[in-house]
Amino acid sequence: MIFKKFIEPLQFWLLSQRRCVGCGKDLKDAPRKTVKGKTLAYCSCKRVYVVEGEGSYRRALVNELAS
Ligand SMILES: [Zn+2]
Repeated sequence: MIFKKFIEPLQFWLLSQRRCVGCGKDLKDAPRKTVKGKTLAYCSCKRVYVVEGEGSYRRALVNELAS
């Protein structure tokens, strides 16, 4: 599927730029909260990321969201 092939590298690139894959916002401005020992970043578009040190981000898994 061409669409998916295009979107996945785009999302990867956005995350490598420390930006939200949904809205492109800089994640350093997103509010942080510590849940189960992990630092989560809450984007204003409702997407949640795990902060993995040195300012790198990945999408949070569903089981990492429950507080
Ligand atoms: Zn966002």
